[in-house]
Amino acid sequence: MHPISEKLLQWYQQNCRDLPWRKTNDPYAIMVSEIMLQQTRVNTVIDYYECFMKTFPTLQALANASEDDVLNLWKGLGYYSRARNLHKAAHFITHQLGGIFPDKIDEVKKLPGIGDYTAGAILSIAYNQPCAAVDGNVLRVISRLFGIDTDITLSQTKKNITMKVEDMIPSHHAGNFTQALMELGAIVCTPDSPACDHCPVLNFCIAFQKDLTSVLPVKKKKEKPKVLKFFALLFIHEGKILLTRERKETLLKDMWGVPLLDLCEEEYIAERAHMLTGVTGESIRKVGKARHIFTHRIWEMEVLLCAARTNGTTGPGYYWFPFEALDELPIPTAFMRVLKIGQKYIV
Ligand code: SF4
Repeated sequence: MHPISEKLLQWYQQNCRDLPWRKTNDPYAIMVSEIMLQQTRVNTVIDYYECFMKTFPTLQALANASEDDVLNLWKGLGYYSRARNLHKAAHFITHQLGGIFPDKIDEVKKLPGIGDYTAGAILSIAYNQPCAAVDGNVLRVISRLFGIDTDITLSQTKKNITMKVEDMIPSHHAGNFTQALMELGAIVCTPDSPACDHCPVLNFCIAFQKDLTSVLPVKKKKEKPKVLKFFALLFIHEGKILLTRERKETLLKDMWGVPLLDLCEEEYIAERAHMLTGVTGESIRKVGKARHIFTHRIWEMEVLLCAARTNGTTGPGYYWFPFEALDELPIPTAFMRVLKIGQKYIV
């Protein structure tokens, strides 16, 4: 066994956190946890994971659910395409693969939303197969351990690091090794202040020996997120609120939310809002601002409260919902912020 792997496995046995997805080797449960953990912190994921597995304990249960039910459970976790892909993957396995979770890397990678990392994680953790799972944590740990100073966003660097990980995977302990490496990155070899004094592989670490822990990994600076500005329209009619899934901005495609209008001069707001929604607004007034930060975009929304003059008709794709029904709908956090501002005017 590679000496680094040996140290890591020993350390993991004594130090691993007690997380709910570590109590199973069901590939479906591992897939759910890994997909939830993409872009989301462990502490946030724990409750969502437990609730999700309680509601959809099997692939078949998830495949039989409606997309709205799945999205509703995902509400607040963000990056909703993950939930849609998870649902599609459950469908695919249930209906195309006879309900048997695939155990070959090429087949797992064909599932919607599953890339190299997630496939490697599922196969190593659930089936103990010698597959590398290289995420941001692993890129950082391996760059430091081996003193790799090329940009980790480059595919060649990622390939190089993947090969290093593959060389270290111990036979029969692939799952624990994968989790140990991730765990080291999560709790010891952290981005800003690695706890080298507590690191089980300190003696092998080139970054530590050469005092490069603050320099490695090398990573190209992220582009600044683009700021998009809208009016968020809170149309009210007989205690109901106007919602839609139609939107030019594709980021939260198919999720329920209030209509978003491109900014314009105040005198044109009513006319443009009518053109967009088919609803005429009266006494339109600004009641607050909401901001939501996504990975590559920032939405800045000026919230407009509009009493609707209508007999209930709306343009295609726009619907009235009683305020109490909002809990049952998949409404992402960006829109929940707007609705919170409007709440005191609506009920
Ligand atoms: Fe990371 Fe420090 Fe351990 Fe090196 S010694 S792997 S930099 S925590």
